[in-house]
Amino acid sequence: MTGQSYRSCKRLDEHFDAIVIGSGMGGLSVASLLSKAGKKVLVLEKHYIVGGYTHVFARDGYEWDVGLHYVGQVHIDGTPLQKVFRHISNDNLKWAPLDDVYDRAVFGKKVFEFVRGKENLRAKFKGYFPAQKDHEAIDAYFGLLDEVSNLGVGYYAEKVIPPFLADIFGPMLRRKVLTYSNRTTLDALRSLTDNQELIGVLTMQYGDYGMLPSKSSFYMHALLANHYMDGAAYPVGGAGNMAATIVPVIEEGGGAVLFNAGVKQIVVQGNRAVGVEMEDGTIIHADHIISDTGVIDTFSNLLPAEVAKKHDLQEKLKHLTPSQAHIGFYGGINESPESLGLPRCNYWIFDNEYDHELSGGNFKSLKDNIPVAYVSFPAAKDPQSQVKRPGRSTVEAVIIVPYDWFSKWQGTQWQKRGEEYEQLKKELADRLMEKIYRVAPQLKGKIDTFEVSTPLSTANFMSHAKGEMYGVAHDPERFRQPFLKPYTPVKNVFLTGQDVMIASISGALMGGILCASAILKKDVLGQINKTLK
Ligand SMILES: Cc1cc2nc3c(=O)[nH]c(=O)nc-3n(C[C@H](O)[C@H](O)[C@H](O)COP(=O)(O)OP(=O)(O)OC[C@H]3O[C@@H](n4cnc5c(N)ncnc54)[C@H](O)[C@@H]3O)c2cc1C
Repeated sequence: MTGQSYRSCKRLDEHFDAIVIGSGMGGLSVASLLSKAGKKVLVLEKHYIVGGYTHVFARDGYEWDVGLHYVGQVHIDGTPLQKVFRHISNDNLKWAPLDDVYDRAVFGKKVFEFVRGKENLRAKFKGYFPAQKDHEAIDAYFGLLDEVSNLGVGYYAEKVIPPFLADIFGPMLRRKVLTYSNRTTLDALRSLTDNQELIGVLTMQYGDYGMLPSKSSFYMHALLANHYMDGAAYPVGGAGNMAATIVPVIEEGGGAVLFNAGVKQIVVQGNRAVGVEMEDGTIIHADHIISDTGVIDTFSNLLPAEVAKKHDLQEKLKHLTPSQAHIGFYGGINESPESLGLPRCNYWIFDNEYDHELSGGNFKSLKDNIPVAYVSFPAAKDPQSQVKRPGRSTVEAVIIVPYDWFSKWQGTQWQKRGEEYEQLKKELADRLMEKIYRVAPQLKGKIDTFEVSTPLSTANFMSHAKGEMYGVAHDPERFRQPFLKPYTPVKNVFLTGQDVMIASISGALMGGILCASAILKKDVLGQINKTLK
């Protein structure tokens, strides 16, 4: 078991340098970075397991991840991302590359392969779209991605420089990013081509940020596409190994990571945070309070109402929308990935429709065609899966849905939501299995156990009230908000995680790096980059 139960912890009357609320990648990364800088850090996680979206759950001898399917750049020696993961895990977290073809987009009977390496990918796209004007559009698209990859520095700098400097220099530092983030993905693509099929393929990874191209910011799309350009990897030992390798670093630094440890509120005296009040009323003191629960939750629930009012925090939140929720299918098969011939890649399954706006717009209820379904095989991606659970394979499927479709069951209890809900879950399981069999027909009749999660499961286990998969939605408006940074208007209260940067494991990690940089008043990333060879 990673971490320690809150109930058995005897150190609650100690004074900590920092308390981190939430143990997702944003929480664990900042906790590890501060611990390595000599701080005593306490991480408090509400769930009964540590890791946030990197936690895993086990049932009937199988194990599934819940929010990590692939991470880019970590498998390439010397990338800053790989170095940071090495640093925060004391070199204990290892990565296994996926196949060279890491994503497959299935449109009807056609399959488009996303292959590792920019030039390989460009050549693939040009092979699929042989017309000269499509080649020009593809080159222009890669050109745009290159432009975006070179302009983040000012944007990150604004988030960590002291707030009074950010007020003065922020608009200038942000300016270049805004030229890309103010456009929607669809708008950017339409400026390059009117070939709907090409647009459909180039934007097929929209599920990775959970927002249709007409609504999402092109900056998010470009960051994501660049992130996976050199392929992707999966944590050796499974997603649970992320927390398992990072938590000991926090403990070695004199800190602790506690589960079953729900925080009720941040304790603020004057305009200064001095600690947290736990759900059971216990007060724990610290110099810095860092929230990984998301900006909406932090401003609406964790900070006392009068403090939020004083700083107009609800006004700020009016610019943000929670991201969409999801339904997950988790299946187990009593055969090895090898004997089943399961690939180490992800499938994105569309019907015949290349126009994501049309298929997304027509998705008005769970009875309608599913615009996109994600399918992959986690046990195949993890080289240790056959050591831990020999002769067993896993399959997962995800679809994106609005939370509202499930709000009528809000307030019901997990596993006691009633007959109608259970029936709906059964129907969803059948529909998702159909999607799975489209790309892995060999699994037909072999899935011997399965579980379905709904947005209510996310709200229940992850405490994301609207079942958000990706924190705050990645529309252009989000990127215009200067308050999405580690500093908050309340002294000693900081934000970390995906809302500080962008959704994804690396985005949440980056949130942790920026937060540690703000607290330590150091360029943490620059330092790690220099020290680790
Ligand atoms: C289905 C799915 C698939 C995904 N796949 C990928 C992928 O393949 N690659 C990728 O890079 N990203 C992926 N993501 C996105 C990625 O998982 C997230 O962006 C990232 O993990 C968010 O990390 P975080 O630290 O910001 O927040 P979280 O992981 O959400 O952590 C927040 C933590 O705070 C805790 N908490 C909340 N309230 C309290 C409280 N009051 N007291 C104590 N604790 C509290 C929660 O329980 C939770 O553990 C996926 C997400 C989903 C949902």
